[in-house]
Amino acid sequence: MKTVKDYIRTIVDFPHEGILFRDVTTLFADPRGMRLAIDQLLDPYVGQRIDKVVGLEARGFIIGGAIAHQLSIGFVPIRKKGKLPGAVISEEYKLEYGEAVVEVHDDAIQPGEKILVVDDLLATGGTAEAGIKLVERLGGEIVGCAFIIDLPDLGGRKRLEDLGYDIHALCQFE
Ligand code: AMP
Repeated sequence: MKTVKDYIRTIVDFPHEGILFRDVTTLFADPRGMRLAIDQLLDPYVGQRIDKVVGLEARGFIIGGAIAHQLSIGFVPIRKKGKLPGAVISEEYKLEYGEAVVEVHDDAIQPGEKILVVDDLLATGGTAEAGIKLVERLGGEIVGCAFIIDLPDLGGRKRLEDLGYDIHALCQFE
């Protein structure tokens, strides 16, 4: 039987030379792959209270929407700067070259809500950490962070675990 990892395609030198882009669109396009990924992402949280799922732009929206529907809970997007129409709070974080800013609507999470953060891939952990900070600034409590792919060589899992967060990933690529 195929595993989640088997459905993921690797594109060499995208978006830059030297990058192995782990493409989850082939996983999402397959009905068994999509179901398998969503079920496995939710596995460790069965029986736990989760009030909202927060998805990181952009592939985290696809996963987060499916999880929200499955759990009958709300979905909250964390977007790149300037995309959300209402009042926002922002977090800046470091990229390989330069900086980026992510935002969330300032009324999207209520204090004390239990939050699951999701994205397709964990690399350095910078994006996820910025998302976590936004959730916590609004008073949300992080239940865990779930990813389809972990790139352990880039240190994101260790970085987030050292900060005390629970990380769940379905597969790894070296
Ligand atoms: P980071 O903030 O370094 O953990 O990077 C994670 C974000 O960048 C995620 O939203 C991923 O979708 C994207 N990303 C980073 N590296 C890759 C890769 N090799 N293949 C696909 N997406 C990647």
